[in-house]
Amino acid sequence: MHRWSRVFVWVACVTTTYGCARNPATGRPQLSLISESQEVAMGRESAAEISRTLGLVDDRALQSYVSDIGQRLAADSERPELPWEFHVVDDPVANAFALPGGFIYVTRGMLALMTSEAQLASVLGHEIGHVTARHSVNQISKQQLAQLGLGLGAVLVPEVRPLQSLLGTGLGLLFLKFSRDDEREADQLGFRYINDHRYAVSEFAEVFRALDRSATRDEGAIPGWLTTHPAPDERVRSAEERTRATPPQADARVARDVFLRRIDDLVYGADPRDGFFRDGIFFHPRLRFQITFPSGWETANLTQAVVAAAPQNRAVMQLTIAGNGDPEQSLVAFFRDAGVRPGRTARTTVSGQPAALGEFEAQTEQGSIAGIVGFLSFRQQTYQVVGYTSGDQYSRHAGQFERVFRSFEPVTSQSVLAVRPQRIDIVQLPRPTTVEELRRQSASDVSVDQLALINQLPGADARIEAGTLVKQIVGPALAGRSAAR
Ligand SMILES: [Zn+2]
Repeated sequence: MHRWSRVFVWVACVTTTYGCARNPATGRPQLSLISESQEVAMGRESAAEISRTLGLVDDRALQSYVSDIGQRLAADSERPELPWEFHVVDDPVANAFALPGGFIYVTRGMLALMTSEAQLASVLGHEIGHVTARHSVNQISKQQLAQLGLGLGAVLVPEVRPLQSLLGTGLGLLFLKFSRDDEREADQLGFRYINDHRYAVSEFAEVFRALDRSATRDEGAIPGWLTTHPAPDERVRSAEERTRATPPQADARVARDVFLRRIDDLVYGADPRDGFFRDGIFFHPRLRFQITFPSGWETANLTQAVVAAAPQNRAVMQLTIAGNGDPEQSLVAFFRDAGVRPGRTARTTVSGQPAALGEFEAQTEQGSIAGIVGFLSFRQQTYQVVGYTSGDQYSRHAGQFERVFRSFEPVTSQSVLAVRPQRIDIVQLPRPTTVEELRRQSASDVSVDQLALINQLPGADARIEAGTLVKQIVGPALAGRSAAR
């Protein structure tokens, strides 16, 4: 959980004006409900939200390196006049995304998978392609039509759903679903952009191969990229075909070492300072609180929320930050906005902090649900804990929901407060080394698989020549690190 404020609903807030324009990248006529200035305004608003919630990687040199590459590619694209921005977002899941108007993000998890500047340019080029071909605008037009008449109430997931689908809430609302044709077109455009900039085009296939490999391996990760992207085999194959059909450029730029030096010391994997589970207790060192979930529940620390589900998803709980208002007023606002029927309410304290809680009921398509929502103030933030289940199960879970809410307390353990993430360490090999040897030299619990993956090498026996720069992982292992993200 980062610095979450509210669910994004900007797609529903756009005013409608119809227009028919020619697509700048493809030249095809295109129906669009959205003007360019609206497109930019929407993108800008969401970009601000992303900085506030996901957060950007705190490394100015790295940010400007990524931005410079993106700006150069975008300046020669079909839409150079857009207010292009390129950022590295603080998220361990390998992904990249484009907002309307030219706001482009690559995650630190994506950088961890790459081994060259040409690969970075490939991914940025692909995302630029989504913007120049106005895919986001098309999607907004369709989603906008689909969303007419959609009410509020996004604060609360309105049914008891499996944990897996809860994983898709939150930021997932922001990521527009592109069609596979859109993806192919973005690949084509991205490939052309990097070729125009004399990058080694063979790197395009390599980065998508690595991404595919990582998604297959990390089943727990949210496969944001792969949910909409073409079958990876097909995409890698088309990139290879395109590479063969492209006349080779004598001084094509790979820029492996430059890139690797730039990502030296980057945080690797989930950052435990943003929260982790240990023995059913969720600790958040940065926000300095902990909370205990019932044993045997499935739990996950998502970007915007901590969620927990009882076996068979018979009950669900969710912890989020709900601004910094007074707990009682937050409770009133919740009852007003979430479309639920309020029940008994109480003012109370939790660990000495002001708090309020109330029961509620609601009708959903799946039948009636009932639950408890609690708000409490802690260190200038207001936390919301919701627990709900089907109406007939409520009496069995009510006590549990309240116990979880009341278990919220300040972290006092020094070892929790002092927890540190793992980091990428770029090292130059003094002698020929296999991946297995590299793992034995590492000062962390990193696996051979992980090392092979992030160095884009086939496996344990792969030999790396002396003098090569490679990624090593340093930092302590953390119990419970594997939890969900
Ligand atoms: Zn894409």
